[in-house]
Amino acid sequence: MFKPKAIYYEKNIENYELGRQLLEKYKDVPKVLIENHNNIEEMRKNSNKEFANMKRNLIIGTRKTHKFVENHKVSDYLVPYTSSGCTASCLYCYLVCNYNKCAYLRLFVNREQMLEKIIKTSEKSDKELTFEIGSNSDLILENTITGNLPWTIENFVKSKKGKLTFPTKFDMVEPILGLNHQGRIIVRVSVNPEEIINKVEFGTSRLAGRINAINQLKEAGYKVGILIAPVIFVENWEKLYLELIERLNQELSKKAKSDIFFEIIFMTYSYVHTKINPEAFPNAINLYNKELMTGRGKGKYWYKESIRQEGEKFFRENMKKYFPKNEILYIV
Ligand code: SF4
Repeated sequence: MFKPKAIYYEKNIENYELGRQLLEKYKDVPKVLIENHNNIEEMRKNSNKEFANMKRNLIIGTRKTHKFVENHKVSDYLVPYTSSGCTASCLYCYLVCNYNKCAYLRLFVNREQMLEKIIKTSEKSDKELTFEIGSNSDLILENTITGNLPWTIENFVKSKKGKLTFPTKFDMVEPILGLNHQGRIIVRVSVNPEEIINKVEFGTSRLAGRINAINQLKEAGYKVGILIAPVIFVENWEKLYLELIERLNQELSKKAKSDIFFEIIFMTYSYVHTKINPEAFPNAINLYNKELMTGRGKGKYWYKESIRQEGEKFFRENMKKYFPKNEILYIV
């Protein structure tokens, strides 16, 4: 259970039910009053070395911008929701590109306002919309602190239509198993070979736990997807990912295998990661590989076309062999 070292909070969170609950829950934890969660000077001034240490704090405020971004994968819109950042430390975390070393967990207590906007947008639309609510954080992890997921699901399904989706690298799904979700929630569980989880995805759930979570969610009637993501082309990647696919094939329940879908995403990396990771995690493996990667603008790197093609061929062939009936939504 995550126990914050300190709580940094905006004064106005006291005006929200969740804000008051969190202040009560953490009444024994040292508190620092802040003006704005976006600009905590003492955090900004910290060196990169402090990256993991800073993630031991919890920042609580209200979300001020509520802009929906169109999306064309599993969802129709990416929606800013109840948190951003995370207490875990995956070495490639995409949030580090946005928040730099301030990728710590921020909770936003004005959840009523955010959910209301989703419901209104959904009900106004002619078509059935799906909203991605987990693109800025990991909601299964956040839920262990806030209990926001049962609240969200129970209130969302009171609306007339629409779906919600989110990805996760955690296995603490028990609080949502017994809910009446009406099949309107799509949970996408991200997996990687155990060796990569150990060496790269610090602070996340083990592979066995994630597979078990998938089976439990399916048993509870949820629509579930598997993200094989991000695929990292380490030296022995073919062996590791083949073992992963075989393990999924062996350990996923019949029910899971009957209709689970896949998304396969190759890792992207960034200049910011190459600066923070060596200082914050000096003993960790280096994910930047000059031979295999190339720039893609705005300080981002991705794998060269030749290695991406090789990867795609590998996954198409092996998924066809082990999961012939399951859809791969995309490989990117
Ligand atoms: S679990 Fe997700 S949000 Fe958290 S550090 Fe890893 S990639 Fe980032």
